[in-house]
This record gives sequence, structure tokens and C-alpha cells, in this order.
Amino acid sequence: MELDTCALPGPAPEPARTGVPTHGGTPTLADLTTLRVGGPVGRYVETSTEADLVAAVREADAAGEPVLVLGGGSNVLAADAGFPGVVVRDVRGGVSVPDATACAGVTLTVPAGTVWDDVVAYAVAHELVGVEALSGIPGSTGATPVQNVGAYGQEVAQTVSQVRVWDRGRGRVRTLPYVTLGFGYRSSLLKRSLRADPSDPGAPWGPTPRYVVLDVTFQVKEGSMSAPVTYPELARTLDVAVGERAPLADVRAAVLALRARKGMVLDAADHDTWSAGSFFTNPVLPADRAAALPDDAPRWPL
Ligand SMILES: Cc1cc2nc3c(=O)[nH]c(=O)nc-3n(C[C@H](O)[C@H](O)[C@H](O)COP(=O)(O)OP(=O)(O)OC[C@H]3O[C@@H](n4cnc5c(N)ncnc54)[C@H](O)[C@@H]3O)c2cc1C
Repeated sequence: MELDTCALPGPAPEPARTGVPTHGGTPTLADLTTLRVGGPVGRYVETSTEADLVAAVREADAAGEPVLVLGGGSNVLAADAGFPGVVVRDVRGGVSVPDATACAGVTLTVPAGTVWDDVVAYAVAHELVGVEALSGIPGSTGATPVQNVGAYGQEVAQTVSQVRVWDRGRGRVRTLPYVTLGFGYRSSLLKRSLRADPSDPGAPWGPTPRYVVLDVTFQVKEGSMSAPVTYPELARTLDVAVGERAPLADVRAAVLALRARKGMVLDAADHDTWSAGSFFTNPVLPADRAAALPDDAPRWPL
């Protein structure tokens, strides 16, 4: 079903997924991942409609063929042995705005294949608040709810309102509202489905989650100032106190500059940025243990 869209003024992101280098044949996992390592794949399919994405996954599952749905390949370390099954990549792009009139703000629905940073750029350009600190995170929008991407004091769980998925377990399209997504720190229902689960006879579903994301709906607020800046390093860079707001465009520029300094903005020409980002997550401590840490230890309440 097509959504009724109501365009905000200004340009929407173009379908931005470009072809991957194939060296005249099927791309390897090195071609498809930001670490640029990994061997051959059995088959490679690019899909440009939701129906084709669902069909590619459904047919592979029915045939018992291993399936890897990849976005930007920025959170995958692939083996030199490669992947014997089918790699499926959604190359759709764009953002639709099904509702720009709600009191609660603006609703954005984004196909899984849309480059995530294009969504952030779009939101900042249209004065939509809530994802500005997530500037510069590589990869696709469809992968953002998988590990609840986050940076500089924001995470997508703060703005995702629902995710439409192909449920490989039930063999049907489902809409998963926020409350069912089970978001945690770099975690979600989708990510947990990659692992063994006694309550789910189909698990583990990895390397692709049980729920293949078709599109993600975000609820954002209108405004020219950012959400309160909670990350001390970002607040210092913006010259505001923690908890204060700053102009949206300034937050995006500051985050991109901070990330670039740490080699966290992908640049094909800069070998130091060929990575999968962080290889660690921050430790989560009970409040009493966190309180016992030195005053200058960084803390983010969960
Ligand atoms: C330089 C750099 C900086 C980074 N910084 C951050 C950061 O600040 N914060 C952060 O949270 N992460 C960060 N990352 C990690 C990564 O960018 C995110 O996890 C991103 O969301 C991965 O998106 P992707 O499209 O590249 O996913 P991929 O690497 O292609 O896939 C990752 C997983 O998601 C699954 N997946 C992909 N698309 C779908 C879909 N449509 N439906 C269901 N499952 C899907 C894949 O099957 C796979 O299991 C960084 C990575 C790099 C390289």
C-alpha cells in the first residue's frame, strides 16, 4: 500500500545507493563491507521494491539457502571464506512524510535502503529535531533499529515509532510498534533474534534477523534548536552547558567534526576510516556502582 505523502518544502534525499564495485562479476564481501575484508558470496541480489526484497528473502528461506540482508556493510566483519548463500541489498532511497500536521510533530517513513546520514541531513535541513546527534553514522536506515544506533547522547529508540518488517518466522509483513521493539543499549528485539532463543523454534536467525526491516517510521519534533545536548564532549565543542540546546545545523556540524577527528566518518580515500566503527560498547553499571566512580568519569543515564 502506498502511503499518502505530504511533502515538506525542500529537497528530499535522492535514492543514494550506488552500485558496488563488482570487478566484472559477483561482488565479494570485501566489496560490500566497510572493513573491506571477506570472501566470495554465492549469489548477490539488489532489490529496488519492497515486493522484491520480501520475495528475495522468502524464496531463499523456502529453499533453505542462507540469506544475508546487508545495508551499508558497516557493522559486519566477514570471513575470508565468504558466504555460501544469497546476499540481498535494498537499494531504495527517499523519505516520505505521511503526516506533518500532528501536534506531536512530524512523521517520517523511510525505506530500509535509504542511507541513514541522508535522513539526518534531511531532518536538519527541514528543522526536524531528534536525530541531529546521529550525524555521520554510516549504513542504511533499515539497520538503525537492529542495534538501536546511538552516538553523542542520542539513539534511534528516542524517535522510532514503528518498524514494518517481513517476519521470516510467520511468513508475513508485520508492523512492530515501538513498545514491541524491546530497545535497549545497542540492542533490540531484531538484534536478539540473531541468537538462540528457547521461545522461538526458528532461532537463531543470524546472520540476518528474523525481522527484515522494510521501512522505519520516526516521530520528530519541529524546531530550529536541537534536543538538549547531553554528551559532555559535544556540549564543550558547542560551547553550551550539558542539557542546553544549540542550533540544529551547529550540532550536526560539530558531531561530524568530532567524528572526523576520530576517523569515524567514512572516507574512501582515507585508509584509517576503513573500519566497522567501535568494537566495544560502554559498560552498563548499577546506579550505586556508577556513583562510586571518580567525578570526571563519563556517565550517561539509561
Ligand atoms: C566508521 C563507523 C562509525 C560508526 N559509528 C557508529 C555509531 O556512532 N553508533 C552506532 O550505533 N554504530 C556505529 N557504527 C556501526 C554501524 O554503522 C551501524 O550499526 C549501522 O546501523 C549499520 O548499518 P548497515 O546498513 O551498514 O548494516 P550492515 O552492516 O549491512 O548490517 C548489520 C546487521 O544488520 C542487519 N540488517 C541490515 N539491514 C537490515 C534490514 N533491512 N533488516 C534487518 N536487518 C538488517 C544485517 O543482516 C546485519 O545483521 C559505525 C560504523 C562505522 C564503520
